[in-house]
Amino acid sequence: MSELHKFLFEGLPVRGVLVRLTDSWQTVLAKRAANAETGAYPPAVRALLGEMTAAAVLMQANIKFNGALVLQMMGEGPLKLAVVEVQSDMRFRATAKTIGEVPPGMGLADMANQRNLGRCAITLDPLGRRPGQQPYQGVVPLYDDHREPLNRFSDVLAHYMLQSEQLDTCLVLAANDEIAAGLLIQRLPMHGAANLAGKESMADEAEIGRNEDYNRIAILAQSLTSEELLTLSADKLLHRLFWQETVRRFEPAPADETPRFSCSCNRERVSNMLRGLGQEEANSILSERPLIEVGCDFCGQQYRYDAVDAAQLFAQQTLQPPGSSALQ
Ligand SMILES: [Zn+2]
Repeated sequence: MSELHKFLFEGLPVRGVLVRLTDSWQTVLAKRAANAETGAYPPAVRALLGEMTAAAVLMQANIKFNGALVLQMMGEGPLKLAVVEVQSDMRFRATAKTIGEVPPGMGLADMANQRNLGRCAITLDPLGRRPGQQPYQGVVPLYDDHREPLNRFSDVLAHYMLQSEQLDTCLVLAANDEIAAGLLIQRLPMHGAANLAGKESMADEAEIGRNEDYNRIAILAQSLTSEELLTLSADKLLHRLFWQETVRRFEPAPADETPRFSCSCNRERVSNMLRGLGQEEANSILSERPLIEVGCDFCGQQYRYDAVDAAQLFAQQTLQPPGSSALQ
């Protein structure tokens, strides 16, 4: 079972989250491997998407945003797109799109940032967003302050946290085909609350990087190797890293808030997307083949429409409010 552990350091303004996605992560990979149209992800993409998935789950668990947290990589290289979406109850889904060869072991810069044009975006899309209300989005490039390409996804996020004046946050990520895991350490706000969308007060800004307790614990966290993160149980890992600190674990989340794979695609959304495409386009596809087939990029589900389905789709249109073109 996938696990999520929250903890704090007794008496110190520091908290942490540890995530180990096992069955849920394996489901993401298995669904992709079973998709006859795409086949399995190349190994380098699996590793990156796993790290992104662990990171997105950590961030959502940390801020408990009432809506979807979407972590997105707009790549420039063979990796065109990688997306992870995590709901407030920790249901998540992930997908990636590549064009051309991705050799094993290819790094982030070669995969998605060959000319420093790759981007990473974090979007907070509130539940029940009103029409016209924009979700919050922060975007960072995949290079550092000296325009040097970053080769680790955790460095991209660290850069994001700095740029958006977040609370001091440190992330360690690793993934293989069995597990996507991550550790997040964050300094607690001294005054008021801060979240991914909000800035801190001036007093807090002055404290960034100056909290000795946080710095000590972050250095310990950074000493964690990928091997340890991927293989040690939560108990062993926290003990090995922080045996000199007093770590207080929170009760584990109930089963319905455990990270798990879940795709929100359905026929209604696909129908809306086809309505958005227009009747002319639909008819044009149907003039060349017997069915319109739309596959979900996240779970591989195929939605099929024959000429009768398509006719019904557009006949209903006048009776319905305009459809959204949300992600399938
Ligand atoms: Zn789906």
